[in-house]
Amino acid sequence: MSTTIAIDGPSGSGKSTVSKEVARRNGLAYLDTGAMYRAATWWVLDQRIDPADEDAVIAAVREMPLTVPVDPDDQVILCAGHDITDAIRTPELSRVVSRVSSYFPVRDILIALQRDIIAAEGEPDSYSHGRGIVAEGRDITTVVKPDADLRVLLTASEEARLARRAKELVGTVDAVTIEKTRGIVSERDRQDSAVTQFLEAADGVFTIDSSTMSISDVVETIENLAGR
Ligand code: C5P
Repeated sequence: MSTTIAIDGPSGSGKSTVSKEVARRNGLAYLDTGAMYRAATWWVLDQRIDPADEDAVIAAVREMPLTVPVDPDDQVILCAGHDITDAIRTPELSRVVSRVSSYFPVRDILIALQRDIIAAEGEPDSYSHGRGIVAEGRDITTVVKPDADLRVLLTASEEARLARRAKELVGTVDAVTIEKTRGIVSERDRQDSAVTQFLEAADGVFTIDSSTMSISDVVETIENLAGR
């Protein structure tokens, strides 16, 4: 039987690490919807379109030649033949992504694509051989797949989330950049929550607060909830 697990949460909640691990351990596909919004933003900037020009952004995203990976161990993202896996994670791009994601026609285009990918993973000839998918983002439990078999909102205290983000940067950049990143991350969550209202669990969505939990504890909790 095909299973769909929907996981939403803010940045630093650990949702990408946890979602990938749940997919890996259970032979499920994995969909990172945040990477799709990031890819759309990369495409807009690459076309030298002003992110504030809503009509131009929508037209560009409609034509975006994006290849979305579903293998949790191979998350190479291709757009128009370019490997943009690293380019979509830069602080410059992160600063603009909320703006591009705030346009509802852009969301409609990407949501349709996400639903197609999720539906395809229920088919026996898919990557997961019909076993299903773990999809993560900010509106999967509420908009993209409200009828998922299991819906989880992964939260963490602001301190825990910022500490995780900063820890990812330790050793690679200086303290000033870490402080700046803290500012960017909180600002992005504030902007995103205005659009997707992902910070509160909808009816039937399980909330897991990961502030003091290890990754494997969170993974096990999700597997137990999914009956695996
Ligand atoms: O998850 P990640 O931080 O990579 O997401 C990048 C951005 O994509 C978010 O800040 C948000 O603006 C947007 N996003 C969204 N809806 C989703 C997933 C991500 O609007 N389902």
